[in-house]
Amino acid sequence: MLGSLHMRRWHAAVLALVAAALLAVVAQGAAQEQDAAAPEAAQEEQQQQEAAAQQDPELDALKQEAADGVDANLVQEMVDSIFSFGELGFQEVETSRYITNILRENGFNVQTGIAGIPTAWMATWGSGKPVIALGSDIDGIPKSSQKPGVAFRDPIIPDAPGHGEGHNSGQAVNIAAALSVKKLMERENIKGTLKIWPGVAEELLGTKAYYVREGFFRDVDVTLFSHVDTELSTSWGDASGNGLISLEYSFQGKPAHGAGDPWNGRSALDAVELMNQGMNYRREHLRVNQRMHYVITEGGEQPNVVPDHAKVWYFLREQDYDHIKDLWRVANQVANGAARMTETEVDGIQVLGSAWPQHMNKPVAEAAAANMEKVGMPEWSEEDQRFAKAIQAEYGAAQSGLKTEVDGVEGPIPEQYKKGGGSDDIGDISWNVPTITLRYPANVGGTPGHSWWRAIAMATPVAHKGSTTGAKVQAMTLVDLFKNPQLVRDAWTYFRDVQTKDTKYRPLIRRGDEPAIHLNKEKMERFRPEMRRFYYDPSKYDTYLEQLGIEYPTTR
Ligand SMILES: [Zn+2]
Repeated sequence: MLGSLHMRRWHAAVLALVAAALLAVVAQGAAQEQDAAAPEAAQEEQQQQEAAAQQDPELDALKQEAADGVDANLVQEMVDSIFSFGELGFQEVETSRYITNILRENGFNVQTGIAGIPTAWMATWGSGKPVIALGSDIDGIPKSSQKPGVAFRDPIIPDAPGHGEGHNSGQAVNIAAALSVKKLMERENIKGTLKIWPGVAEELLGTKAYYVREGFFRDVDVTLFSHVDTELSTSWGDASGNGLISLEYSFQGKPAHGAGDPWNGRSALDAVELMNQGMNYRREHLRVNQRMHYVITEGGEQPNVVPDHAKVWYFLREQDYDHIKDLWRVANQVANGAARMTETEVDGIQVLGSAWPQHMNKPVAEAAAANMEKVGMPEWSEEDQRFAKAIQAEYGAAQSGLKTEVDGVEGPIPEQYKKGGGSDDIGDISWNVPTITLRYPANVGGTPGHSWWRAIAMATPVAHKGSTTGAKVQAMTLVDLFKNPQLVRDAWTYFRDVQTKDTKYRPLIRRGDEPAIHLNKEKMERFRPEMRRFYYDPSKYDTYLEQLGIEYPTTR
């Protein structure tokens, strides 16, 4: 997923315009006045309830205890360990073994290999309602191996994968929060169930739709997702990003000697190239919201053999289900056209991933935002700021350093201002149960996402402090959900009466589609033996930086 959008100021201006327009409409007639009054009263009532909940000193004390109970050492150890595993999507073997061991040691019941995905699992503790599910992604980015704490390009292993987004930190946030709250639930006899699960292969949008299909969220009341960011924030309503379908088109041709009798061959690579040409011409006549990108995954063996088989992998992104389906239809047409031109055949269209656009829950987002204000931003040291500015200077970005103010809650993006963007398959879950994403400030901004730049800070004090801050917010929101049944009811009222009133979830994956668990297998097998030498050993070293012998910060 891409980082959050920085549109708040601009958004406020839009809201002001919308508010002005609403006032004009209300002034036009009594009927509108009555319509407008009803939601206003409901909103007032809700605010009163929230205020009452906030003024409960017993609840406040419990929440403070939950935040204070977050084990910062556990956060550091988990962030550094998962960083050192640096595993790609569907191959998170060491990562999942490590995390599920911690959960089992802490009394969780862990079901592994869920939804036909070897590295996926569901951990459960407690009993009864409410059921709160904590999720976060765990996979890395190809070729983003990078020494942490070093503010310029310096891979641990050249070309190896790494955590070039920061997915090594979210499980630490969730588990540190859950363990702190679990202790309080045991002591205070608080009823409820905690579930913890991983976003396997999120960079491939590979699994969450399958979790939903297999019913893993059927009994869940609220999902608290967490995602690395450069700020402390959350949002509700329609996001500005896109959903997507990820498809691999395979073409079958005929082999021939490239020089001897090429006229007897039919090149599948030609079909791939013509499909890409066709799609690039089509771009001009597609909505501005769409994004599409491709890589050729198979293009033949050597030039003197006419390639009889070739594959191209597309991400097709659009704003909503219907537009995604239409873009899919366009791509199929173009693929068939390319096959006709080359007298080859489309011999397969494999779904490799999918994501619904995101829509987050208002009451839960507001509760989390109130907790963000209570926890506040991490206390960055002079070294942390110097480090952040050095990375930004190296890239050539504005040297703004690390954020020091809480960003808080962002509302929906109006339809006409949505301009498309990244995707996260948490979208599928957000359309099945009330869900929010907690974005915590564990990375340095101003540099390109999905690259080694975003790995630099992810096993340093910046990631440790930011993730600990995230865990405190998560712990407080958990206490809110377990102790305030009205919040769970409000979450469902919003989910039923607002979010899903006119839009119903229909999976993008087809009935026969299966998780693409073959992806990244060879890549990971190639690098893992070498990477194993650099796994973090917390029994010997206080931090991964210490193990690697890196001075923090190392700058030019
Ligand atoms: Zn992500």
